[in-house]
Amino acid sequence: MEQSEILRLDTVTRQFSKHLSPAVNQVSFSLQAGQILALLGESGCGKTTLLRLIAGFEQPQSGFIELNGRVVAGQGQWVPPEHRNVGMVFQDYALFPHLTVAQNVAFGLTQPRRGGHTRYLSQPLRELVADAITLVGLQGLEDRYPHQLSGGQQQRVALARALAPRPALILLDEPLSNLDAQVRLRLREEIRTALKATGTSAVFVTHDQEEALSIADRMAVMRHGWIEQLDTPEMIYQHPASRFVAEFVTQANFLPAVLKDEVFETEVGYFSIPNPSTIQNPKAEIQNGTRTDLMIRQEDLHLEPDEAAPVVIRDRQFLGREHRYCLLTPSGRELHARTTHQRLLPVGTRVKLSVAAAALQIFPCQD
Ligand code: ATP
Repeated sequence: MEQSEILRLDTVTRQFSKHLSPAVNQVSFSLQAGQILALLGESGCGKTTLLRLIAGFEQPQSGFIELNGRVVAGQGQWVPPEHRNVGMVFQDYALFPHLTVAQNVAFGLTQPRRGGHTRYLSQPLRELVADAITLVGLQGLEDRYPHQLSGGQQQRVALARALAPRPALILLDEPLSNLDAQVRLRLREEIRTALKATGTSAVFVTHDQEEALSIADRMAVMRHGWIEQLDTPEMIYQHPASRFVAEFVTQANFLPAVLKDEVFETEVGYFSIPNPSTIQNPKAEIQNGTRTDLMIRQEDLHLEPDEAAPVVIRDRQFLGREHRYCLLTPSGRELHARTTHQRLLPVGTRVKLSVAAAALQIFPCQD
């Protein structure tokens, strides 16, 4: 084990019933201290179950989990949640309505018989509470009750409560999904800042690609209970390991193509073959006549008006910073393009498509 490894899962499996496929299936990964790992995947892919296994609310049927070099589940060992030194932040904040902000934050630091009230806290513990409240920017709101706070403020309290005991690891289960778009954006930045400022490691569950890309140091894309790819956000975005990852993370376009004399022939025109060193998926065999799927990210498509072109703009949406075009190919396939600096084109315009060869990726044909 490396010195700074905080979490390690080795072939962890959790199956709720023998009639169902495992919710978490042979999952292995490790996390270095201070890193933020995002678990990203569609609803039902096993993200929450994986988080609950790490927290100790679920027991694996096979495999083992290590926290800070100590086996906490599997291999005949079992450490209950309260002894794992792990903090939790939930989607619904889970604050105590009858306790103030300060009392909620103090809760994890006090003995249950003392009801979590700050007045029973020793000076060092009071300082931990004050530090956590400052860290999440809630100074001045210490005496308010949860119902007197906005959703974003309530989630900050939940974060402060999880951070106050200075846990080695924090688990966040879709912490931003009940908040509106503006607050989500701000809070995801603040959560990352707070975690980094305290050097706290975290596992962050989300089904939002952008959230995962922006908050994480490493990202695990989950599907049907297993990890499809685990890497840095940049690597996952630029070098998706499978078509599923490419479609889920980047919403990339896929276009059937046949290699003919050094170019890819598609229903919308010809595309240059990438330099072999930039081919992202070397497993895909490409020889003359090979059918493949070209992956083209939405932001890599360039549109040029051309009355003779086979592609037509079916719809255009303004997204603030960019425009998103929905394009229709002769076979009825929809492609999407996102443009920031290109000339605005009206719906109904016929367009020629081009893409830099280096941006093309090749995947085995799916049809
Ligand atoms: P979501 O994003 O919707 O919260 P998720 O990725 O977190 O989904 P999980 O909640 O981990 O997914 O569920 C994974 C699978 O395990 C699902 O098919 C779910 O129905 C099943 N499952 C979860 N908990 C239980 C349980 N206690 N008993 C039986 N099946 C369960």
